[in-house]
Amino acid sequence: MLRNDQLDQWDRENFFHPSTHLAQFARGEAPNRIVKGGSGSHIEDRDGNKLLDAFAGLYCVNVGYGRTEISDAIAEQARELAYYHAYVGHGTEASITLSKMILDRAPDHMSKVYFGLGGSDANETNVKLIWYYNNILGRPEKKKIISRWRGYHGSGLITGSLTGLELFHKKFDLPMAQIKHTEAPYYYRRDNLDQSEEQFVQHCVDKLEEMIEREGADTIAAFIGEPVLGTGGIVPPPAGYWEAIQKVLDKHDILFVADEVVTGFGRLGSMMGSEHYGLKPDLITIAKGLTSAYAPLSGSIVSDKMWKVLEQGTDEFGAIGHGWTYSAHPIGAAAGVANLKLLDDLNLISNNREVGGYLKKTMTEALGDHPNVGEVRGEGMLCAVEFVKDKDSRTFFDAADKIGPQVASALSESGVIGRAMPQGDILGFAPPFCLTKEEADEVVTKTVAAAQKVL
Ligand code: PLP
Repeated sequence: MLRNDQLDQWDRENFFHPSTHLAQFARGEAPNRIVKGGSGSHIEDRDGNKLLDAFAGLYCVNVGYGRTEISDAIAEQARELAYYHAYVGHGTEASITLSKMILDRAPDHMSKVYFGLGGSDANETNVKLIWYYNNILGRPEKKKIISRWRGYHGSGLITGSLTGLELFHKKFDLPMAQIKHTEAPYYYRRDNLDQSEEQFVQHCVDKLEEMIEREGADTIAAFIGEPVLGTGGIVPPPAGYWEAIQKVLDKHDILFVADEVVTGFGRLGSMMGSEHYGLKPDLITIAKGLTSAYAPLSGSIVSDKMWKVLEQGTDEFGAIGHGWTYSAHPIGAAAGVANLKLLDDLNLISNNREVGGYLKKTMTEALGDHPNVGEVRGEGMLCAVEFVKDKDSRTFFDAADKIGPQVASALSESGVIGRAMPQGDILGFAPPFCLTKEEADEVVTKTVAAAQKVL
């Protein structure tokens, strides 16, 4: 086994880490963590430290670490057939079974699933399908896509543009011309504090309507949104938001993409976020929870309405020119089948309702009145604590103070992993679905201690 100091040196000399301050890392000013193992809600590093991972990796190891049901299925698939492609009608038992399992869990009006590798490429697929759809329907002008500020939809070229977080745009010259960002349903951060939730929803609707009016409905193809804003701060929408937004989209014949990369397969305490909020999307993006990240796999679930037009397109123009080598990779598909089965067998989604609700409640009791906590919020197995300089005026801390990262770092030193969300001083939690109430208590107690240490 390699020595830790050797690995550390190679890490800093050779490894280009995503979402990392490259210069600080290379200079050894930013820490690294070399992860070695995991079991249940915990990971273990090479020094033997055990940490309670209250963010499930990147909200993806939903069934928890060390599930041999999934690793055995992966090993068996690799032994039997590690790879074959899915082009021109090829498939495996795993990929065909998984598409059936996904459709069984999706809203009734969904028709087919196109497989990718991660959430970003699935959203790239969605944008292409939307543009193809409108070209087939003879509406070449209807191409713009509305996303929301604080939405996160990936880091690719067009998906980075869809993402409504400045960090992901800065200095990249992303193609923004076809992308428009509208108001985030972030009630706590509304401009007018006198607005009721209902009035704020109306304000979001008005903003959307204004944008559609300004751009022209005949130029707008689709609207994309996460059922609960994730990376943008873990923000559940105010009551009635989705119903009102969907009415506007229907009125203007605008397709709706529900990006369920985080919310799909149980995180909100329902199988899908679409079910949770009564959504009727034309496309659903899935990834993370599809395999609980035991192997990379994503998907775009396509509605009946879109599917009919895609079929018509291939009758007119031949095979659809969109394919990834690793689409429906057998190992990912085998992981997906085993993962979705485990989710049912262990009744993990109902645990999310119970323990997720408990986490939010105890966190609120512990920190809700803290003078530097603006809001504790959450839905299902998602929870966030937003820190503010002043509770009444909701003033932000100076970004240079890095309060969110400091609290996350103090928390991690005490053995619990939360995530400093990239914009604002928000500490996010998205634990594995197997989290127990005792583990939830540990998350809360240690978060309080970390906040006390920093604030
Ligand atoms: N969509 C949402 C809602 C996400 O949260 C993410 C990743 O966090 C993505 C898309 C991008 O997924 P990936 O990182 O697998 O490309």
